[in-house]
Amino acid sequence: MEIRLENLTKIFKDNKKENETRAVDNLDITIPSGKLVGLLGPSGCGKSTTLYMISGLLEPTSGKIFFGEEDVTELSPEKRGIGLVFQNYALYPHMTVFKNIAFPLENLKVQGRPNSIIEPAVDENNNYKINPVGSIILEDETHYLKTKYELDESQVKALNKEVLDENNKQVNIKIEGKKFKVKKEFLPVDLESNKDELVNIITTSLFILPKLDKEGNQVKSKTAKVVTCKRNMTEQEIENFKLNLENNKVEVCLEFPVESVTTKLTEEEITLLEKQLEENKAEAIKNKVIVYSKRKLKKQEIADLVAETAKLVQIEKFLDRKPSQLSGGQQQRVAIARALVKKPRVLLLDEPLSNLDARLRLQTREEIRRLQKETGVTTIFVTHDQEEAMSISDEIVVMKDGVEQQRDKPQEVYNNPSNLFVAKFLGTPPINVFLGRIEDHALYIGKNKLFMAPKDVEDQDVYVGIRPEGFTVGETTGVLRAEVEQIETLGRDISMICKKDECTQPTFKAIINADSDIKIGKIVLGVKKNKVLVFNRETEERVF
Ligand code: ATP
Repeated sequence: MEIRLENLTKIFKDNKKENETRAVDNLDITIPSGKLVGLLGPSGCGKSTTLYMISGLLEPTSGKIFFGEEDVTELSPEKRGIGLVFQNYALYPHMTVFKNIAFPLENLKVQGRPNSIIEPAVDENNNYKINPVGSIILEDETHYLKTKYELDESQVKALNKEVLDENNKQVNIKIEGKKFKVKKEFLPVDLESNKDELVNIITTSLFILPKLDKEGNQVKSKTAKVVTCKRNMTEQEIENFKLNLENNKVEVCLEFPVESVTTKLTEEEITLLEKQLEENKAEAIKNKVIVYSKRKLKKQEIADLVAETAKLVQIEKFLDRKPSQLSGGQQQRVAIARALVKKPRVLLLDEPLSNLDARLRLQTREEIRRLQKETGVTTIFVTHDQEEAMSISDEIVVMKDGVEQQRDKPQEVYNNPSNLFVAKFLGTPPINVFLGRIEDHALYIGKNKLFMAPKDVEDQDVYVGIRPEGFTVGETTGVLRAEVEQIETLGRDISMICKKDECTQPTFKAIINADSDIKIGKIVLGVKKNKVLVFNRETEERVF
């Protein structure tokens, strides 16, 4: 499930002091389906605020959040299909591990038995009476099952006008003070390629069919008929449904004819239909949509799901224990299992490793990576630890003061930071920064000429960033003269603490091969061109 943030902004207002904090500012990012993306930045840069907006715990000041094509900005957290894991585990201390994991399933409603069928009406020649307007799918925050809305003519007209406008893929309307998002959906042209989307629509949609006459005008009753088939399918049911689609056993008509008919099924008919579905003999329901009732999960189903998830996070042995009888790492795994048990569309992790000691951190980090790969769930991982983000993420988003600085694969962000902030934030030991200049197209630090700048770069004052691994010894040209103050041997490498007037820190660090013969005092260092990053002194943006 792809996550798309469109101009997402959160402003916290402090009414008394008339202050405001722009915690997240115009964030515009797409998180690819099935990937693990690290949201990285210093404390207070807006990472958690972003995560809470995605989860629905915080309402954005402006902007939109999409899960796939679905606009979830105004959906409540429960309806978003998310799993959330916090730093402090937030387990229920009085419940066993089993109960903790099972908790989100207790009130979960899944598809029950079929109870009615919506079928298109046909004319005397057996042709479908096609609705000239097209069906509208309504998503309601509060009511979504079998609801009828009394609309007056002008409201329906306005609605139809919006829907008829081909440019309008989505409209927000208010009916009787309730807010609705109206999403247009059309019969998929190619069932094959739209299968997933179709399943999504069928499992989450609510249909409204305005009553229209043959010319397509609103009929006098001034009411709109609302039919719903909103429900949650279990994973197995979705698989069956997909299989049926594949075998052309079920054909789904999303654009209902005007005069579609909803038939409440008798107990006998329900049994027959269930049998047909089971045997994949769904001929009888071709071109029809089945409306299912909802039910709670059975005890055995809950036990199976808990067992399956506990196995995934390797805590199946501890199901009878209370959280206090577990280590921090095990507790966090329970929290992750609890987030995964409902098979979320999106997994959101807010600094999940912060409370663990160094060894457990590493272990749990690998575990999360494995789980994410195994489940394929799109995951956002919030952390201020650059090493953690680099090691676990497919992509990282670096944030500062609520603004995205850069988004790319970890190595790419490290090698090619877009500005000085990103360059400084990534890498241990951190990048060394010197005051420098470009003069006559050559790059200088003080009197030392390093190398020629690219031809199109103008002369200017710059910051020169050199990664600690970017130095060599024994060069004669393109060199940096410095003073070695201290030498630390790290086995394979030597770390030198050096001084140079132009360095923006009191000292800088160079890491070189342990074979080099280094002494305290004056030194001539060569620099590796690909480890040198140059930034404009004023804007701090990358020059080359
Ligand atoms: P940390 O790593 O410390 O958790 P963060 O990057 O997650 O930091 P946020 O918690 O998102 O940062 O906070 C972003 C900014 O918004 C901060 O300046 C914070 O003080 C401010 N902020 C967060 N919540 C509120 C609130 N409820 N009211 C006012 N300001 C808030």
